[in-house]
Amino acid sequence: MSDTIKYLLPETDIPRHWYNLVADLAEPPPPPLNPATGKPATADDFAAIFPQPVIEQEMSAEREIEIPAEVRDIYKQWRPSPLFRARRLERDLDTPARIYYKYEGVSPAGSHKPNSAVAQAFYNKISGVKQLVTETGAGQWGSSLAMASRFFGLECLVYMVRVSYDQKPYRRGIMETFGARVVASPSDETESGRAILRDNPDSTGSLGIAISEAVEVAASRPDAMYCLGSVLNHVLLHQTVIGLETQKQLELAGDAPDVLVGCTGGGSNFGGFVFPFLGAKLRGGSGPRIVAVEPKACPTLTKGPYAYDYGDVSKLTPLVKMNTLGSGFMPAGFHAGGLRYHGMAPLVSQVLDSGHIEARAVDQLDVFAAGVRFARAEGIVPAPEANHAVATAVDEALACRESGEARTIVFNLCGHGHFDMQAYIDYFAGKLRDYDYPDSEIAMALSGLPSVAP
Ligand SMILES: *Cc1c(COP(=O)(O)O)cnc(C)c1O
Repeated sequence: MSDTIKYLLPETDIPRHWYNLVADLAEPPPPPLNPATGKPATADDFAAIFPQPVIEQEMSAEREIEIPAEVRDIYKQWRPSPLFRARRLERDLDTPARIYYKYEGVSPAGSHKPNSAVAQAFYNKISGVKQLVTETGAGQWGSSLAMASRFFGLECLVYMVRVSYDQKPYRRGIMETFGARVVASPSDETESGRAILRDNPDSTGSLGIAISEAVEVAASRPDAMYCLGSVLNHVLLHQTVIGLETQKQLELAGDAPDVLVGCTGGGSNFGGFVFPFLGAKLRGGSGPRIVAVEPKACPTLTKGPYAYDYGDVSKLTPLVKMNTLGSGFMPAGFHAGGLRYHGMAPLVSQVLDSGHIEARAVDQLDVFAAGVRFARAEGIVPAPEANHAVATAVDEALACRESGEARTIVFNLCGHGHFDMQAYIDYFAGKLRDYDYPDSEIAMALSGLPSVAP
């Protein structure tokens, strides 16, 4: 058998619908709450920051939502993305397991993020919006939205977390190439930013702060809207093209997964990858084990309670029920910028709470060791975020070596690491360390959780 096995679908197999997990849940998702009244948020509560079609998707319980032709047409540039069988990694691990990975690094931004950026830009365009405002951590989402904005003739303003702005000039350069304006956050352009700078002029920023700035600006300008790159239902919905394609590709391979693995920052690549499989399981009974992997330095799913919380520092967003470390959580500076958010997608949190998925937290050094091993076997350097999924897939494969079981392990390789090489360089230089977020810090961050009726 050849070592390079790639399952490709024709362009005509780009999904025509996104899959909405809400349709198959036994319980409807707990509603977002208006922060001022504590009552369930209505469509009107979102109208200042999201266009109508996006609000409808956010609140929808319909199983299938049609992908507009304009969006599918742009998807064609990199979709369907390939599914690979990791034969050389299997041999390296000396495992009887069959390992597959879905590769989202083939998109122009190098990750899954454009799957939602293109859809969001399209819906804003047809709603008459002129400017999109967003935040970005490591720059993956910002570069995706900058590209999508350009495709649809929209202006794009990005608040970039200060530490990444200084340390990741290449991602900033990409955003600027696409014509976006990039502002380091906290900035003095917003109330939220100025409030943070007054208390801490040297603040290196956080996603929670950058979200506050972007939401504030979008809400104050009539022709500007806000875009979020993860967490919300509509973002996970757009990402389900990943799992829908993977289902077809595994059919081509004549295989069925025993375990699915994805990394979780806000939950969008994970949700997009696993929800189509989980939906089939919820409708029909059996299905794979599903494992969400997060860093020990930001242990949202494994240590954060499932509770109502704000999405941002300034408490401008509706309250959503999710696993959270508290909106004031300041993650340590570990090298997976995309996994540093204090909260988790409400849908991912809900299916963890109902026992349909498992969550695991891993150490940074193990994560990089696995990523390097994967790169040497498969020739793709994964994004540090993706290495969390790689590490767990490797662990599962090694468990198969122990037990002798030939399980099928499928993971989502959500992006390449070409703009994260400093992290690898630091790893080789022995500069990275493991960081377990201390329980006392977590307790402190959680003490500020808003009290709402359950
Ligand atoms: C943004 C990002 C993540 C984290 O976001 P999710 O919504 O959890 O997917 C993970 N990996 C990569 C490569 C990213 O760009």
